[in-house]
Amino acid sequence: MSKNLDRKLRHIHNYPKRGIDFIDITTVLKNAQDFHDLIAELQAACADLNFDKIVAAEARGFIIGSALAYIMQKGFVPVRKAGKLPAAIYKKTYKLEYGESTIEMHKDALQAGERVLFVDDLLAIGGTAEAACELIESAGAEVAGVLFFVELAGLNGRQRLTKYDVRSLYLVH
Ligand code: 5GP
Repeated sequence: MSKNLDRKLRHIHNYPKRGIDFIDITTVLKNAQDFHDLIAELQAACADLNFDKIVAAEARGFIIGSALAYIMQKGFVPVRKAGKLPAAIYKKTYKLEYGESTIEMHKDALQAGERVLFVDDLLAIGGTAEAACELIESAGAEVAGVLFFVELAGLNGRQRLTKYDVRSLYLVH
């Protein structure tokens, strides 16, 4: 049953730039019951998917992705911003809702044929998830699903992810 966690999200106007309405998830994470409910809702939302590992992007994706991987007994693979990973990497540059970013993943993090769930806190225009899925596919692995806590309505992030099984817990306006 939904715990209406969307009501606990904090909206910050004009952050990090003028005109952007930033959704702050820390107001959910700081409460033990809400954090627990969030991970339980994510687990329920992907319970029917067959996957071996969770891939998540720096930094908020790590918080929920690693908790979900731990509770579901899956491996966890970090996708990091440029220059942070020590070994050989796959790399992808993409457009953000505001600005541009480069993400990287270790080449040996995934094996060919492995099934992967990509998890992130929020879907905006979809560039991060699309780039992360391309990194996953560069390794020869398969995207079993893409799962978000929050999906921003009206930005059509899903349009960039039509190849994948995309799920989100809450649609936020
Ligand atoms: P996209 O690539 O879909 O445009 O943006 C999603 C990525 O940017 C996610 O990794 C997410 O953490 C971050 N992001 C963009 N806008 C917001 C926001 O309003 N709130 C939060 N929490 N993250 C955001």
